[in-house]
Amino acid sequence: MDEPIVMDEPIVSVRQLGKSFGANRVLQGIDMDVHPSQVIVVIGPSGSGKSTFLRCLNGLETAEEGTVRICGHALVEHGKMIDESGLNRVRRDVGMVFQSFNLFPHLNVLHNIMLAPRSLARLSVDEAESQARALLAKVGLAHKADVFPGTLSGGQKQRVAIARALAMRPQVMLFDEPTSALDPELVGEVLQVMQTLASEGMTMLIVTHEMNFARDVADTVVVMDHGKVIEAGPPTQIFSSPREARTRSFLQAVLSREPTL
Ligand code: ADP
Ligand code: MG
Repeated sequence: MDEPIVMDEPIVSVRQLGKSFGANRVLQGIDMDVHPSQVIVVIGPSGSGKSTFLRCLNGLETAEEGTVRICGHALVEHGKMIDESGLNRVRRDVGMVFQSFNLFPHLNVLHNIMLAPRSLARLSVDEAESQARALLAKVGLAHKADVFPGTLSGGQKQRVAIARALAMRPQVMLFDEPTSALDPELVGEVLQVMQTLASEGMTMLIVTHEMNFARDVADTVVVMDHGKVIEAGPPTQIFSSPREARTRSFLQAVLSREPTL
């Protein structure tokens, strides 16, 4: 018999995820579902486990407890990582963009974007190149194909990093503070690209302190503290009437840092 079609099955499904560094229990029973085209913004104080959480979703960190399923496939099952071939599949399905852009300095922009699809997805040179050029156009950098990363501004580097992640045609994109290393005047161009991706239906999980972006783009804001999700809800609710005192004090601290125009 055919398997029943489950509508809107989550792309990312996390249950009771736990992770320690030595005696430091960094993640403590995280539950989360990310559905197709959903945009979830994760906020919370420094050290609350946001980066570790994202890194557990693409196998960069090994969780010790709980379950992570990506596109229906187990990445972590009852605290055990799956094998290397499964890990490669997860790394195709899950694109990640970091605060530090991690472009390859010795490759021009075009080749930065072509590399992974050539080696992991086995695209031909022509396919990889035409895809890379299309992605560069999408992030507004068609004219930068032939330059080396060192000649780009931070905002341009991050847009190339986004194009590079998209080149694997991921099912979900993870962003870990993608604009935190940028000069303030360059933040907008990166957020703009992310907003476009969201409007095109990309499924995204984003750690950011950009509260205006979260308000405009997120379906759900998740608040983490000390390795736990302390509350989650639509941005309007989290920002205007947070339930938790810890959310209120965190938001106050962050919002007082935002420039007032
Ligand atoms: P956030 O991204 O919310 O600032 P992190 O996930 O980076 O938080 O860190 C959560 C906690 O885990 C912190 O206490 C941090 O010091 C610790 N931590 C993160 N990475 C490592 C590591 N590789 N080794 C040891 N401790 C780590
Ligand atoms: Mg972090």
